[in-house]
Amino acid sequence: MDMARIAALRAEPVAPAAHLIDGTRRPASDGGTMPAISPIDGQELTRLARGTRADAEAAVTAARRAFDDGRWSGLAPAERKKVLLKWADLVEAQALEIAVLGVRENGTEIGMALKAEPLSAAATLRYYAEAADKLHGEIAPTAADALGLVHREPAGVVGAIVPWNFPLMIGAWKLGPALAAGCTVVLKPAETASLTLLRIAELGLEAGLPPGVLNVVTGEGPVVGAALAESMEVDVLVFTGSGATGRRLLEAAARSNLKRVYLELGGKSPNVVFADAPDLDEAARVSAAGIFRNSGQVCIAGSRLLVERSVHDDFVAKLAAHAEKMQVGDPLDPATAAGAVNSQAQLDRSLSFVDEARAAGRRIVTGGSRILEDTGGFYMAPTVVADVRPDDPLAREEVFGPVLAVTPFDTEDEAVALANGTDYGLAAAVWTGNLSRAHRMVRRIRAGLVHVNTYGGSDLTVPLGGVKQSGNGHDKSLHAFDKFLDLKTAWIKL
Ligand code: ADP
Repeated sequence: MDMARIAALRAEPVAPAAHLIDGTRRPASDGGTMPAISPIDGQELTRLARGTRADAEAAVTAARRAFDDGRWSGLAPAERKKVLLKWADLVEAQALEIAVLGVRENGTEIGMALKAEPLSAAATLRYYAEAADKLHGEIAPTAADALGLVHREPAGVVGAIVPWNFPLMIGAWKLGPALAAGCTVVLKPAETASLTLLRIAELGLEAGLPPGVLNVVTGEGPVVGAALAESMEVDVLVFTGSGATGRRLLEAAARSNLKRVYLELGGKSPNVVFADAPDLDEAARVSAAGIFRNSGQVCIAGSRLLVERSVHDDFVAKLAAHAEKMQVGDPLDPATAAGAVNSQAQLDRSLSFVDEARAAGRRIVTGGSRILEDTGGFYMAPTVVADVRPDDPLAREEVFGPVLAVTPFDTEDEAVALANGTDYGLAAAVWTGNLSRAHRMVRRIRAGLVHVNTYGGSDLTVPLGGVKQSGNGHDKSLHAFDKFLDLKTAWIKL
């Protein structure tokens, strides 16, 4: 990585940011702004437009008009593909600039951010661009006197509300298939991660997205996000974030136009290590990365470690050693393994879970405190808490921070019961050298993604989505199109 370039980019002032509505940059309707605080040092990085309900409504109106007049949905899919491919090239060409800006705003370590943010977003846009002209309808096997055609039509105006941990990766998981399908979009970034989404949206315009096809409105969730959820003109709402917000979105849909709502609501993912795992050293190293990279602010983070009792103490010691070796700190130093926690609020939340566990007599094996406080930034030591009981808050609630809860088990049945003992069902892992057990566990664990002898590996070709209270619908893969395409039957008498 080009250290000199990173140093130069991190010193650049960041201009105050306006919304992007109908192809133009606009301030909030009432002139309001809000700070973007850098978690690197706790200082104000720049200011963002504090969106109003009127701003959200203006963006929806622009998106509605752009959808209805066919400036995008009416193009041949191959034409949409060209624009999206060009957009991906522009994002990739500025990857380092975009990544550094994002790190300054959300604190993810640059090594991960570069790959997982602009480069991943470019790859996602390309994947869906390439698929745009390969989405065929169907001819139904009807009787000879009728023709049943099944069309797949773009669903209309999409509201997309995204979080701060991977704004571009998750944003592109929504934007790629929505735009490739021919929908128009109003995107609401998280309060603490808006700048890079605005930047790539501008590149989209430069690539040829017509005005109004992609609009970005910054501001507070309960104002801008709620306005999208309550809108009568938003046809589909896609969301990644907390369960509490997800519930509000479903209520708002019920109160308004019954828009379809797709939710990705995080997890409390079990990482199950059996004594017969092929390589316990490797399992410990990968498990540490699976919870501590991006300071645990990962939807699929392996935040519950379940270890067979016969290897428990050794394994926990190995894992704690990895946690202690991790370089935590300045996220713009390429050697950093875990950067800053996104915000003071998120840091406080993680610490409060640890305090609660400590007070309940659980064992803090390593970490457990804020570090590097003199920088003014929000940093937390990778934390391992052992002897966690199944009913503890640390075993049931998503922390979204660098905190691993460890619980021993004795039998496969007990491992399954513990693994499934949460309201969530997003991701999981099983470490075993026994092939039959691996397949049995994949079947028995209720989650949208089960890793075997690894954690966190994946690519765009496979779907990501939760069961139980982790949500519904899927990001990634061709299945993601299902959210943005309506089926329409034409029944023709012959
Ligand atoms: P997290 O805990 O990950 O910050 P949130 O659900 O609070 O999860 O935030 C995810 C996204 O949801 C952000 O873009 C945020 O602004 C938005 N949001 C928060 N509250 C609401 C709400 N009441 N209505 C709509 N969107 C919201």
